[in-house]
Amino acid sequence: MKHVHLKILFLCSEAVPFAKTGGLGDVGGSLPLHLAKLGQDVRLILPLYRVTKEQGLSLVLLAENIGVPLGYEELPANILKIKSKSDFAVYFVQREDLYERPNLYANEQGDYYDNLERFTFYSHAALRIAQFVGFKPDIIHCHDWQTGLVPALVRGAYAKNPTFGTVSLVFTIHNIGYQGIFPKEKLYITGLSEKEFFHPEGLEYWDKISLLKSGIVYSDAVTTVSPRYAREIQSPEYGMGMEGILRKRKERVYGILNGVDYDSWDPSKDRYLPATYCAEDLAGKGRCKEALVLELGLLRSMVERPLLGVVSRLDAQKGLDLILKVIEPILEQNVGLVILGSGSKQIKDKITEVMPRHAGRMAFKYAFDEPLAHRIIAGADMLLVPSRYEPCGLTQMYALKYGTVPLVHATGGLDDTVVEFDPSKVEGNGFKFSPFAHGAFLDAIRKALHFFSNRELWRAIMLNGMQADFSWARSAKQYLDLYRSVVDRFPGRKIQ
Ligand code: ADP
Repeated sequence: MKHVHLKILFLCSEAVPFAKTGGLGDVGGSLPLHLAKLGQDVRLILPLYRVTKEQGLSLVLLAENIGVPLGYEELPANILKIKSKSDFAVYFVQREDLYERPNLYANEQGDYYDNLERFTFYSHAALRIAQFVGFKPDIIHCHDWQTGLVPALVRGAYAKNPTFGTVSLVFTIHNIGYQGIFPKEKLYITGLSEKEFFHPEGLEYWDKISLLKSGIVYSDAVTTVSPRYAREIQSPEYGMGMEGILRKRKERVYGILNGVDYDSWDPSKDRYLPATYCAEDLAGKGRCKEALVLELGLLRSMVERPLLGVVSRLDAQKGLDLILKVIEPILEQNVGLVILGSGSKQIKDKITEVMPRHAGRMAFKYAFDEPLAHRIIAGADMLLVPSRYEPCGLTQMYALKYGTVPLVHATGGLDDTVVEFDPSKVEGNGFKFSPFAHGAFLDAIRKALHFFSNRELWRAIMLNGMQADFSWARSAKQYLDLYRSVVDRFPGRKIQ
């Protein structure tokens, strides 16, 4: 019984290669693939966004105008499916007025005003699609607030539905800072009864609706993307108000580190790099650095100097304010700094403001630029990740593989993946600082620069990092073990 394959309905609002705004999209694409490779029957459902539609995918129309509940009515949607044969099936919910917009969640003014409607519709539609295609899942795995309604629906309106009668629910928090908060007057949109669901033990959060809380409260297991973040979010410092309900369920809260897609992130075959390299032959890394210095218009002499890189969303979470505070003292030492970021215009303006004082030593590109992200992670000597909090973080894991030494705030997944270098044992793969303060950050950078001047030691740190293996296969196996334990915990819901 135990090792029968599981049927997994995978609900995530973004997934590479179809749509991505951050790490969530990486997980949404990679985890289903690796679960499928472990022999599981996985179905992924996504909204058909404009960016996805523009990819010109070959899609089959499975159903036209099926009724999907939204508030007091049912609205029609189309169901499409990827035509090509792949490891797992991908379905799309098509409704032009809800999903075919310039972005996934927000425009320049802020979040779309109807995000509750958009993701309620997606949640109901996903459950309708499972019924429509005759897929009776053992597990529904939901991700972040966009899918947080699903567990409440499955335990509510769909509880007696034969497709979902035996299903177990797993909910993953990728970032507790995004809680899906909406006014209580909009509860009718979800179709949930106020009496049954709108109370402090349910999805009420300070007299508002929280879809993230719904996911936490109505699921059988809650996971997050690193062991340390799983502990942190149970504390007031990091829990952002959700620590109480998480602590109450602490036996069912798990931390599973994200994996890295080594098909895309491997310096020995990275198609975006001017030269490839590996631990046995690092010559290509030097060429990547030289090309990056030229590409970004830094002084040629910077090729010989330590080059610090940053690839990040520009958001308060990411600690760019600390970087701004250390720019003067660091660049004074004739060190190079390259920043690639997109997001907050306010942060962009602050970075742009300091640029003229550091001409030739500092470059900043305000864009979401995947190829340049690869070239920076390969060409820099160090990657700075001073996030205030970081559930998992991917860039430091890429950096390790690329022999680019990470320097991180000791928090969440950064603390779990970076091991402080110990010169006495020549062990460790990077540098960490704590507390979150520019003094501690500056000290760590100075310490790292000190080791950089010792070529042999530096090479040892690089090589320690390049051995890292954060493959998805490992993470997928941990998720699978968790799914099995959840299914076993509820014998009434045993696999048929
Ligand atoms: P988050 O999901 O909070 O943004 P992660 O470190 O988990 O942080 O994932 C960020 C992902 O987005 C990585 O794949 C990173 O390379 C990519 N990324 C972030 N900013 C940019 C950018 N400006 N251009 C290209 N890729 C970026």
